[in-house]
Amino acid sequence: MRVGHGYDVHRFREGDERPLRLGGVDVPGAPRLEGHSDGDALLHAVIDALLGAAGEGDIGRHFPPGDPEYHDIDSRELLRRVTRLVLSHGFRVRNVDITVIAERPRLQPHILAMRDSVALALGVEPRFVNVKATTNEGLGAIGAGDAVAALAVALLTDEIP
Ligand code: MG
Repeated sequence: MRVGHGYDVHRFREGDERPLRLGGVDVPGAPRLEGHSDGDALLHAVIDALLGAAGEGDIGRHFPPGDPEYHDIDSRELLRRVTRLVLSHGFRVRNVDITVIAERPRLQPHILAMRDSVALALGVEPRFVNVKATTNEGLGAIGAGDAVAALAVALLTDEIP
């Protein structure tokens, strides 16, 4: 068994007409997050958790910010690539648990869609993925609604005896 954790935070890209992209799901009511890719802080936290568990560094090592190949890329594609990497090392994804911290918009109606989207990218059944959302109780930049943060923990099973 190998455990890894991930954390990411992105600020909102005010004035962006496109809806917030979180967990691979378009969520109305807030703009997209800043970032070289689609700014999906939730998926970036999951990617770092997987890479951490596999001892493979972090997202910036695999997808350098500024590389034109990743400009505006759908982060689900990045997660699929990292999942393939993890599998190629002989690991299997056992489960992933995620907490999103956001003051806006209301995420609860989209939680199950996010769970299903993450599970699909990981190639696991949805019951092995859990997504939780909370607020920052009005504290700091996240509490002011300027940014969204996400934390993730991933457990990998070692298939190699
Ligand atoms: Mg990020």
